[in-house]
Amino acid sequence: MNIESRLAQIGSQEDPATGAVSYPIYHATAFRHPRLGQSTGFDYSRTKSPTRAILEAAAAELESGDRGFACSSGMAALQTIFALFSQGDHLIVSLDLYGGTYRLLERIMSRYGVTASYVDTNDMDALEAHCTPGTKAILIETPTNPLMMITDIEKAAAWAKRKGMLTIVDNTLLTPYLQRPIELGADIVIHSATKYLGGHNDVLAGLIVTKGQALSDEMAILHNSIGAVLGPQDSWLLMRGMKTLALRMERHEFNSVKLAEWLKVHPAVEEVYHPALPHHPGHDVQRRQSSGNTGIFSFRMKDARTVEPILRHLRLIAFAESLGGVESLLTYPAVQTHADIPEEIRRRVGVDDRLLRFSVGIEHIDDLIADLGQAIDAALQEIEEA
Ligand SMILES: *Cc1c(COP(=O)(O)O)cnc(C)c1O
Repeated sequence: MNIESRLAQIGSQEDPATGAVSYPIYHATAFRHPRLGQSTGFDYSRTKSPTRAILEAAAAELESGDRGFACSSGMAALQTIFALFSQGDHLIVSLDLYGGTYRLLERIMSRYGVTASYVDTNDMDALEAHCTPGTKAILIETPTNPLMMITDIEKAAAWAKRKGMLTIVDNTLLTPYLQRPIELGADIVIHSATKYLGGHNDVLAGLIVTKGQALSDEMAILHNSIGAVLGPQDSWLLMRGMKTLALRMERHEFNSVKLAEWLKVHPAVEEVYHPALPHHPGHDVQRRQSSGNTGIFSFRMKDARTVEPILRHLRLIAFAESLGGVESLLTYPAVQTHADIPEEIRRRVGVDDRLLRFSVGIEHIDDLIADLGQAIDAALQEIEEA
């Protein structure tokens, strides 16, 4: 079945008792046992819960994995995955990574003796150079946020496999509609489902999908033991969002490519980072390993003084953190999403005070261009008058 159909039909045939097309929300935390030694398959909702189970099965199928796990946030999902590792273990992590993941590794995991190196995961020499006997896994974000660096998943996963390491891919930005890392050799996929999967800036959630029996069994133990699981109401809300994922991603891509092309030739803009643009260094790999582009991209203004007034003059586009929702949001990574990343690393990847990140929504493209255009014009005028 095509992924569009699978998405639209999540949970629609799972309740034979009533035929409900929208799967019910089961709030129960405890489940009656028919008799000693028997179970309906549900005992206690931290371990398994009916509404969450529908979501988890759908996630596993969409990502071509064996098992799905729904968590209370993307960070909870990452923490659950990191619990696979022990004192002395080392991870190789994408250089331009999500600030929260960096904070979790450096502030929390380091206390347990789990260390990380931040490298360009598309650079095979760099991977080789940072590999130690204790290196257990490689954690890849592709594209990265905000600089949209692309890693060749197949190449990196094959390298990791030869070394006996796990490959973990954060697939938040592209979603299984556009990119399925397990099909390219990854062992674990993680999502901040708060973003595109939920899609409406109204549910905080994370997903893990594992490939292979042993890894799936181990993750089930961690998921249940840590207990950062997603509640039934939020599981339902996430499934409701996922039903329209295919349509939303098509519009996100269309709008983001149009805006990137418009900004590329704007005289006040120095550079645009969008993998759909032919000059982008990851353009070919991204085309090969995914079936389209996300709605996220970044651009660097020529003059840092334009940033503050641009954000102030926006009317339709919101100045806000987060990404992946139907509403367009503009973020200033250096002071918002990436504030936890040390200046040295930020500078190395290029997150500076002239960089803005766009999470392009599904509004009409003409309205988005008009709003950003008037904000840039107003900013330039203020600078000229100052
Ligand atoms: C937002 C985000 C996370 C964290 O997810 P939360 O749902 O906010 O906890 C992890 N990775 C990426 C790429 C993200 O964008």
